[in-house]
Amino acid sequence: MQTSIIGYPRIGNLRELKFASEMYFRGEINASDLEKAAKDIRSYNLSLQKNSGLDFIPSNDFSFYDGVLDTAFLLNAVPERYTSLGLSKLDTCFAAARGYQGEKGDVKALAMKKWFNTNYHYMVPEVDDSTEIKLAGTKPFELFSEALERGVKTKPVIIGAYTFLKLARYKGSKKAADFAEQTAAAYSELLKKFNALGAEWVQFDEPSLVMDMNAEDIQLFAALYENILKNKGTVKVLAQTYFGDVRDCYNELCGLDFDGIGLDFTEGKKSLELVQKNGFPQGKTLFAGVVNGKNIWRNNYASTLSTLSELAKHTGNIVISTSCSLLHVPCTLANETKLDNKYKKHFAYAEEKLTELAELKKITSAENYAETEEYRRNAELHSEPRTTGNETVRKKVAALTEKDFVRLPEFAERERIQKERFKLPLLPTTTIGSFPQTAEIKSARNAHRKGELSDSDYEFFIEKKTAECIALQEKIGLDVLVHGEFERNDMVEYFGECLDGYLFTEKAWVQSYGTRCVKPPVVWGDISRAKPMTVRWSVYAQSLTDKPMKGMLTGPVTILNWSFPREDISLRESALQIALAIREEVLDLEANGISIIQVDEAALREKLPLRKSDWREDYLDWAIPAFRYVHSGVKPETQIHTHMCYSEFADIIKDIDDMDADVITFEASRSDLTILDVLKENNFRTEVGPGVYDIHSPRVPSKEEIKAAIVKMLERIPAEKLWVNPDCGLKTRGNEETVPSLKNLVNAAREVRNENC
Ligand code: GLN
Ligand code: ZN
Repeated sequence: MQTSIIGYPRIGNLRELKFASEMYFRGEINASDLEKAAKDIRSYNLSLQKNSGLDFIPSNDFSFYDGVLDTAFLLNAVPERYTSLGLSKLDTCFAAARGYQGEKGDVKALAMKKWFNTNYHYMVPEVDDSTEIKLAGTKPFELFSEALERGVKTKPVIIGAYTFLKLARYKGSKKAADFAEQTAAAYSELLKKFNALGAEWVQFDEPSLVMDMNAEDIQLFAALYENILKNKGTVKVLAQTYFGDVRDCYNELCGLDFDGIGLDFTEGKKSLELVQKNGFPQGKTLFAGVVNGKNIWRNNYASTLSTLSELAKHTGNIVISTSCSLLHVPCTLANETKLDNKYKKHFAYAEEKLTELAELKKITSAENYAETEEYRRNAELHSEPRTTGNETVRKKVAALTEKDFVRLPEFAERERIQKERFKLPLLPTTTIGSFPQTAEIKSARNAHRKGELSDSDYEFFIEKKTAECIALQEKIGLDVLVHGEFERNDMVEYFGECLDGYLFTEKAWVQSYGTRCVKPPVVWGDISRAKPMTVRWSVYAQSLTDKPMKGMLTGPVTILNWSFPREDISLRESALQIALAIREEVLDLEANGISIIQVDEAALREKLPLRKSDWREDYLDWAIPAFRYVHSGVKPETQIHTHMCYSEFADIIKDIDDMDADVITFEASRSDLTILDVLKENNFRTEVGPGVYDIHSPRVPSKEEIKAAIVKMLERIPAEKLWVNPDCGLKTRGNEETVPSLKNLVNAAREVRNENC
């Protein structure tokens, strides 16, 4: 059996691409320096994959910002507001990704959305009635040729036509189907070029096929590929799916003229069953996603081999593959120098997954696989118990009953009590929690970590920054303050570090969006709170001001969703264990005089199963209760806030209300405020702060712009329920943008209060 991967991380082992891009943004290096850094990463990855013995090596999985955005450029689906700026190709791409404010104009970035059920974000392509889809770019060809020059005939990967059309946002009256013909023509053209370049395989990524599909979707998919594959020439085409199974279109998929079909046997609950029941078409190659591309645990060869041998009953053409692109795991264990080998031996990052593929290849070709050294070692690893559990925690979780998840008195009564208590003005202003993590703060944290700055000096420094931040907020005139989160590197890692049962990595960075990477901690064992985590900082911050100071916590669902989860216990069990710990912290904050506590569930929407039929049972039935348990024990006068990134929650709006927080803030500015209608239609009960400006972009919103957003919000949301805030934490921004933006925000709120309320 041969081996394949769907894609490889492109940030570089030590985030070289991030640092180079950021230097470029700051004007410290020029475009050719940035290109050079990118090329070095590609060439390193190429050698690595080649040396590992990988048979199908991807190209065009590289991107300066995002692969969907690249596809939009490839297909000429780029709004004129970016192309007309007159910037270079690279800068036009960055303008669409990050917004542009400069001598050539002032434009906002494209909308950004979570990539299926991952913490990766893609840029949403915008298509309007005048868009003409055609092959307009050259990047896939250039990258294919670049690898070819280095002696590797790669398998170029491109977002497929169906997924592209499903992900695009249609601004005019035309819909996806109206672009089917043009799109098919563009992809045919692309195949023609790859034929000419001598490519053997082309991979079209079609993750949208694992979503619920209706008859119209299936029709669109079939029509597109009937067209595209008609003149495919000699190049072989792989339809690559991932993140689930293709139960709605398996037969259509098999019936089309693809040469290879990639199925996910890790997340695809029904993938195996589909093959068993329907068989697999003769003459095609099955790319079997059996090595988990999302988690960091070592593959269990025994169970993988049993899947492969089951599949082998139905087809003789199997390529062993990962379940999805390795983009979603860190690069290499080689840089994890501090982690003890007793842990590391259970881990496999991208590079180690290449080794797993090579080992699986070797094992499957052996006369007697059980006798291979590789198999034996793997079986041994999986036979030892990994951790000893925490009985107390398990018992507590088992003892939870219905009433533990209910906060009393009910919402309206609490709202009344809290209005009495806080006496905030209408349209209260606040922020989401973090303030800019400046170079000064990052270097102090680094120095502390390296032992160059003592604990007490570090704490003193953080106190000073916190005090400055509070003074700044008072000066700006915000109503509900935050301490700024300077003590935190990251909203999940920080908590993980204070919880027993978590493990930390040093360099396990995973791309989240653009140059932003996260370093998810690992849930190793049962979780419990070792000690108070935030009380000291919140109490200190509150002591500096008479205004309410929000205590800031990350919620259990987000902590879990942004960690690498265990595979030996259920997500529900892990979430409730974390909820137990966060609840203790909430009660501690309250007991120490903190009157408003924000429990961020930034990632709540993220892991919602892709198929609607799985929503309740697989997710919401434990995720919402886990959040409720965190705050069900507080007094009525304590105000609970929550925050969610990306307001893609129209479809679970009742569940969001059911979290029973008192206030929720969320991203709205990048999604055209469409969520407001949904709130109104559903009589959303929780008070809301839809973000009035986009913090993912360095632009400074004007006061007028913010006023217009607030006025628009007031058309849908009663003034008594509306809060005014940015759409997310400010940690990725600089003070240069943050201070004027917040001043404009406060002034806008004040003016609207006077003029409209
Ligand atoms: N409180 C966090 C912050 O402000 C929330 C971050 C987030 O939503 N991603 O940084
Ligand atoms: Zn956010």
